[in-house]
Amino acid sequence: MIGAVKRMLQDISPHIYDNAYTPRAPKPSDRLLSFSDAGLLCAVEKDRVTLPEIGDKTGQYLFAIDETAYFLWEGAPLPETEGYRYLPQRERRQCASDETAFACAAAESLWRWYRRNRFCGACGSPTEKGETERSLVCPNCGCTVYPKICPAVIVAVTDGDRLLMTKYANRPFKRWALVAGFSEIGESIEDTVRREVLEETGLRVENLRFYKSQPWVYTDSLLMGFYCDVAGSREIVRQESELSEAAWFSRSDLPTDHSADSLTGEMIEQFRRSDPTIAAPEASP
Ligand SMILES: [Zn+2]
Repeated sequence: MIGAVKRMLQDISPHIYDNAYTPRAPKPSDRLLSFSDAGLLCAVEKDRVTLPEIGDKTGQYLFAIDETAYFLWEGAPLPETEGYRYLPQRERRQCASDETAFACAAAESLWRWYRRNRFCGACGSPTEKGETERSLVCPNCGCTVYPKICPAVIVAVTDGDRLLMTKYANRPFKRWALVAGFSEIGESIEDTVRREVLEETGLRVENLRFYKSQPWVYTDSLLMGFYCDVAGSREIVRQESELSEAAWFSRSDLPTDHSADSLTGEMIEQFRRSDPTIAAPEASP
């Protein structure tokens, strides 16, 4: 659907995501998330994912959306029933994007984090849950870990009416995307933008404009989207280990096969629509 900006994964208004750490006792209509290596126990009805009610069970409080709280089941994966089956993330992503889809993805990120931090990375003792914040604390050495969130950039490099687009090498995602990459230790997010573009395409950029961020919970990332202008040579020198393709596209020829719920997709569509909010600022002295 060219021209319309679709909603990103986390855009669930008028519903309100409340992730303040306020553990509470569940009420029977709250939702229970039971994960296994096969996926999440859920049902798909009319292209929408639904989660089982918690009933008389209990679990680790995760967050609330409106009046409904979401709890993580911490025992052995619950058995499948006639209505509820374990569905992997890639199949859930085929369903409509709504507040439940977002809840499932955010909960899966937290499930990974709880599961991978059951023991202290410093001394190997079993960790315990923090009481006043979402943390896991080692009772032996005090080492404290917080949920894993990796900062990363999505970069739309523009050259007037053209947009730089890339395709990953050696990844399942085969569609055209924008330059992207994770921040390194000791680096500002602006420096991440400049480094990733230079590494992947050999181009230099200027006039960085922050656009929006997106909690890309599928990969425990926080994406920060920037528009910027190419500076100097327009000739692409592709990093073959990272990219299978990199090319300039004019506004009228932009690919349309990007994912609708992603920041990348929205940024491509904003450029296509010549949104004035992404225009380069007046040259400053
Ligand atoms: Zn320890």
